[in-house]
Amino acid sequence: MRAYRADLHIHTCLSPCAEIDITPKRIVDAALNKGLDIIAISDHNSAENTQVAVRIGIEKGLTVLPAMEITTSEEAHVLAIFGEVPDALAMQEVIYRTLPEGYHDEERLGYQLIVNENDEILEFCKRMFFGATGLPVKELVDKIHSFGGIAVASHIDREYFSVVSQLGFIPPDVVFDGLEISAATSRKKAEAVFGDYASFPWITSSDSHSLDNIGRRYTSFSLETPSFEEFVKAFKGERSMVWDF
Ligand SMILES: [Zn+2]
Ligand SMILES: [Zn+2]
Repeated sequence: MRAYRADLHIHTCLSPCAEIDITPKRIVDAALNKGLDIIAISDHNSAENTQVAVRIGIEKGLTVLPAMEITTSEEAHVLAIFGEVPDALAMQEVIYRTLPEGYHDEERLGYQLIVNENDEILEFCKRMFFGATGLPVKELVDKIHSFGGIAVASHIDREYFSVVSQLGFIPPDVVFDGLEISAATSRKKAEAVFGDYASFPWITSSDSHSLDNIGRRYTSFSLETPSFEEFVKAFKGERSMVWDF
């Protein structure tokens, strides 16, 4: 067993609110430079850049997990983290069916770039990733589990787009695997405010939208190997995870 540093919330240039130079290739290089062992690629409502990131990670010796940050119909963000790209893409298909109709206004809201391993643009994606999907939080979390994924309530300490900000609390019938505290809040402060949720595993991550922010927050997992299977054990309490920022 050894400690692995994981930053499980990183956006790529596919997210309209992210910088255009935060490509899968540069993310992997930045993560290795920062001493991370595991990252998750989590764009808003899409997993189109995960395959290439996973491939580059394998080449360069970094565990890259395919993920998405999905917006529920209540406008709460939920991280869906998967072990294999096909599982993330199956989830993506469900999400795409519930996205609002119409075209993304890239001039106003930012480009949504699908890229290859050489940072070449393959597509300017025009789907509406910015808004809410049609899935309520309970239905979404159940769907994530049906594809073998882990569901983590994003940045519960933020005043916008979190399950707590949108619903007022973590609904007891929603089976989250973990909760995320953002880089804006210290562990000490989070414990004072969210003590009621101490029974959940807590992670912290960078929520990077730019290369500079990668690894500014991470969670240390004690695992036998940096694999998704070990990671699932950690969320079940069979492996330890710690952070103290
Ligand atoms: Zn978010
Ligand atoms: Zn995010």
